[in-house]
Amino acid sequence: MRRWNGWGDDTVDFEVPLAASEYLSKLIGPARPPNKISLEEMVAMVPPSRLQDHRLVSTDVEDRIRHCTGQSMSDWIFFRGGLVSNFPDGVAFPESDNDVREILRFAREIEAQVIPYGGGTSVVGHLTVPKSEQCIITVDMGRMNKLLDLDKQGCLATFQAGVRGPDLEAALRAEGFTLGHYPQSFELSTLGGWVVTRSAGHFSMGYGRIERLFVGGEMETPVGTFRVPAFPASAAGPDLREVIMGSEGRLGIVTKCTVKVTALPEAEVFPAAFFRGREEGVAAVRALAQAEIPLSMIRLSLPEETMTTLSLKSGWQMDLLYHWLAWHGVRDQKTMLLYGAVGTHKKVNWALRRAKEIIKEHHGVNVGTSVGKHWYKSRFKLPYIRNNLWDQGYAVDTLETAVPWNKASLTRKEIEEGLRRALNEMNEKVHVFTHLSHVYPHGTSLYITYIFRLGDSATETMTRWRILKKAACEAIVRTGATITHQHGVGIDHQPYLVAEKGAMGMEVISSVCRTLDPDGMMNPGKLLK
Ligand SMILES: Cc1cc2nc3c(=O)[nH]c(=O)nc-3n(C[C@H](O)[C@H](O)[C@H](O)COP(=O)(O)OP(=O)(O)OC[C@H]3O[C@@H](n4cnc5c(N)ncnc54)[C@H](O)[C@@H]3O)c2cc1C
Repeated sequence: MRRWNGWGDDTVDFEVPLAASEYLSKLIGPARPPNKISLEEMVAMVPPSRLQDHRLVSTDVEDRIRHCTGQSMSDWIFFRGGLVSNFPDGVAFPESDNDVREILRFAREIEAQVIPYGGGTSVVGHLTVPKSEQCIITVDMGRMNKLLDLDKQGCLATFQAGVRGPDLEAALRAEGFTLGHYPQSFELSTLGGWVVTRSAGHFSMGYGRIERLFVGGEMETPVGTFRVPAFPASAAGPDLREVIMGSEGRLGIVTKCTVKVTALPEAEVFPAAFFRGREEGVAAVRALAQAEIPLSMIRLSLPEETMTTLSLKSGWQMDLLYHWLAWHGVRDQKTMLLYGAVGTHKKVNWALRRAKEIIKEHHGVNVGTSVGKHWYKSRFKLPYIRNNLWDQGYAVDTLETAVPWNKASLTRKEIEEGLRRALNEMNEKVHVFTHLSHVYPHGTSLYITYIFRLGDSATETMTRWRILKKAACEAIVRTGATITHQHGVGIDHQPYLVAEKGAMGMEVISSVCRTLDPDGMMNPGKLLK
């Protein structure tokens, strides 16, 4: 069953190896396990629902608890610390477009606010329930999960928007196709959620980010149905897919999405290589991104991340790897590259041959495919470590941005140093590490993980996190990077949006909101104030 207060299924655990706990303790100090709030204690905190009965809306207390937050760090701190005070008054579980329309009509009649809910995996506060005089209805799309149409000739699939990653892929694979979209939240996140947050998966270099895959769909808005037909291409004015993509539940509830799919690949191969330091690694991935090789992924872990990742592993294979690398001159600044190719055997072989040449030109040491195989097998398990580290007393948060190549080093340094320094006054240290996981010919994303110790109280932990988040966001804006490459805006990034959209851009977005949602009932406070 899904954990009510953490990540993922409660039968899955990611035990932190002793060596990794010791490594962390040495870096930022030993931690103390926090107090735990039980589900029964949480149930006792939930106020009575203000909603009148409706056949599609549950006011069950546990449903309301399970839908009152997403997975952002502030959600975790509030929720796990028992500070959460706002719950939806009810949770609707529509099964059809008609149900969605009926819920929106009902919400409008009673002047309720509506929060669309996909898989509940948002990490930037998209789902946080605001304090409100109005009733709040969260609409869980999980039962709208069917494959509606597969056009094999045109490689187009239409799904109901609440379909989760594994169900979507299973339905396509049964017919010999794949979408190839794998955010790390794949097991819980939904197609509708991906589209409205503009998500990116680890094979987006090959298959494309969700905006390259989304070709059309339908969204139920407070003023009617908004339809975007799935044309192969069109010159008919502005592209209205852009109204849906990135809308973050502010404009309506997406009910259907048509996406481009691809025939299942013959081969998927994920080799690894190591570089002697970050500069060589970054130069190599830039060259790979600009060489127009059909790679499906690139993930370059800079030295701090490489060390942290390696600290999770031990055994004779690791000893062998260290010796092999040392023999090739790769020692204390190890920079690990995972890359992949997916497609026909011919295409994969060609891509990997060319990639290896470029890696060699940058003094990289190819180490075969066993590291990549391990990554592939455990790629969706890593987020579970967040549960276990929290129980030990450590908070893990991530943030991401994208920036042209000529600013990438400055942006990374400013963010990392800002985070490392942020808690100096509290005498607290922060462990920070970065990887480049979505690289483009003209720039790269930067994905930063930071780990800090929980405070003695949830309030103190929240203070620490707010200081850290502010330091990182300010560094992003100061260096001219985007406030988000893949997680979206939600609440956490909202104050920084104007820096890149400008006042006129903000007004354009607001005016679309006013047109489709004149009463401001959709997901209030997210994306825009
Ligand atoms: C462990 C973990 C790993 C992650 N890895 C990645 C990653 O690799 N790449 C990435 O891009 N993101 C990642 N994320 C972030 C998150 O998974 C994505 O933002 C994802 O797209 C959210 O999808 P969801 O279905 O869970 O949406 P939710 O979290 O439920 O909702 C997110 C927003 O979308 C709106 N929404 C959802 N469904 C609909 C709908 N049908 N109609 C209208 N609005 C809707 C909600 O109102 C909300 O504003 C990760 C998150 C976690 C916790």
